[in-house]
Amino acid sequence: MGTPVNIRVLKNGQVRIHWFVRDPKGPIRTGASAPFLAPGVKPLVLGGKTGYLACQPKLRSLTSPIAEGKLQPIPCSSEPAAVTCPECRGVPQYREACEAIANANGQLRADDADRKRKTPAQPQEAAPILAS
Ligand SMILES: [Zn+2]
Repeated sequence: MGTPVNIRVLKNGQVRIHWFVRDPKGPIRTGASAPFLAPGVKPLVLGGKTGYLACQPKLRSLTSPIAEGKLQPIPCSSEPAAVTCPECRGVPQYREACEAIANANGQLRADDADRKRKTPAQPQEAAPILAS
């Protein structure tokens, strides 16, 4: 029998996803993996990044600890829109990261608009979904 897993959720039922801040000086290095997609397709390399968790900057590993006989996974993402942990979302850098992404998306939309004006025959694309 495997070890039971304890997934921590917030009061609203969402899984607590921490913000993994990429930082070459961070104490955590994520494990690299290369999922195989299809014959002839280069494997997708994931992980192998250095950084820290915004709400627990001293944490040194994302390996799930075992507490009370259960694995305690540490879900996290370097994508700010995916983060649900209120403490991670509360650090000042989080707001800056979200604003930087919003500005970059605004820039992309402006570029798209320029391109559409120059080539009016282009089909309309769906607007990107932005996290608030
Ligand atoms: Zn957090």
